[in-house]
Amino acid sequence: MTRSALARKLDAHCAALGACRQCGLEDAGVVPILSPARATRVMLIGQAPGQVETGEGERRAFAGRAGKTMFRWLARIGVDEATFRTRVYIAAVTRCYPGPHPSGRGDRVPSKSEQARCGTWLEAELEIIRPRLLIPVGKLAIEKFLPSAPLDQLIGRVHEADHAGGHSRVIPLPHPSGASSWVNAPRHRALLECALDLLGVELAAIWRASAARRSA
Ligand code: SF4
Repeated sequence: MTRSALARKLDAHCAALGACRQCGLEDAGVVPILSPARATRVMLIGQAPGQVETGEGERRAFAGRAGKTMFRWLARIGVDEATFRTRVYIAAVTRCYPGPHPSGRGDRVPSKSEQARCGTWLEAELEIIRPRLLIPVGKLAIEKFLPSAPLDQLIGRVHEADHAGGHSRVIPLPHPSGASSWVNAPRHRALLECALDLLGVELAAIWRASAARRSA
């Protein structure tokens, strides 16, 4: 598919996704997050947006504190936030803020039925983008693509996965939210560093290849 055809398809997809109200969360002022990336072969998949991310006027994934942490990680491999948002399609397991966790700590994990309903948007994006690289962030997103396993057996490695859009390399990242203390252990920090190094190499190769195709 040409870059302009891909952009047109994603424009139409995002117009439909932006109008989705299937879960009835709009009464709380919640609307789906959207990604501006169009000519892309890389997708990042988060869990679900936080409160600051899904009000009208924002609608950007990772716009809150967890996002600041994640973009600090990416800066470490030389990728700034603006470039990442333009060149990587940011999706999520569910696209609307699910509300607070009943315990008062962090956000509620989207229910199985919300995940199933919203999963159709993700499947459509995989089919349109046919990504070469997937970056699932956090356990819920990682388990959409990789077999269930402790994070220390998954982070810091390149995996492969089949999905609705074909076959991709997969580099999982832990969730950057402060609600997860996994990254604080020195051994886990080293696994995160390794994952970021791998991500830097993969992104550079994909973006080099796409620049070469454009100039050919
Ligand atoms: S969570 Fe997903 S399926 Fe539910 S209303 Fe939001 S976009 Fe639609």
